[in-house]
This record gives sequence, structure tokens and C-alpha cells, in this order.
Amino acid sequence: MELRKTFQFEAAHLLPHLPEDHKCRRLHGHSFKAEIVVEGDCDPALGWVIDYADITAAFNPLWKQLDHHYLNEIEGLENPTSENVAMWIWERLKPALPLLTAVEVAETCTARCVYRVK
Ligand SMILES: [Zn+2]
Repeated sequence: MELRKTFQFEAAHLLPHLPEDHKCRRLHGHSFKAEIVVEGDCDPALGWVIDYADITAAFNPLWKQLDHHYLNEIEGLENPTSENVAMWIWERLKPALPLLTAVEVAETCTARCVYRVK
């Protein structure tokens, strides 16, 4: 069984390794969405895999670091592409949320990246 919970955070970034004339090289912001995916057996007594509130509790310390921040200033996010943000979340969330199987980061409604370890 797979559960997914989505969190939104507002943040600014720029991508420092791109050419000066690339639009993503300029400082700009996104309403990012992070989808946290967990997988596990459904507890027969409780009828669920995990309390969604436990996902929120595990993600909340990271959300506080990301929301309304300039991502480039966060340690480990000096080049804050969606790919790197997804890996940054994974590395910090996995110890607190062992059932984690994927992290999806969306910069816009039409562009998103999924990170999972096979
Ligand atoms: Zn961007």
C-alpha cells in the first residue's frame, strides 16, 4: 500500500551554474510542492499504513528550513535544482520516516522531479 502526502513551500532560488542569460540564473521564486511517498503493509487492526500526521511531523523540521527561505543559502542546497532539493529532502527525511520510498518536488504545475532509491 502506498500513501502520498503533499506539502507546499514558498521559496526563492537561482541556479548558479547556468549561463548568465538563462532565466533560471536570475533570482526568482516558486510555490514548490513536495510530495512524500511512503509504502508499507496496511495494519489490519488500524486499517492504515501510517498516520498522515506522522508524515507531517517528520517533514515539518525540513519544511521550516525551506518555507520562505532563499534556498541557495541552505547548507547542501547551494545549487537548488528540483533534483537537488528532492535528494536533500530524501537524505534528511529517510531516517525519520523509514517507510519513505520517493520524494517528488514540483517547481511549477507542469514541471516536477521524482527521486527514489532502487
Ligand atoms: Zn526556479
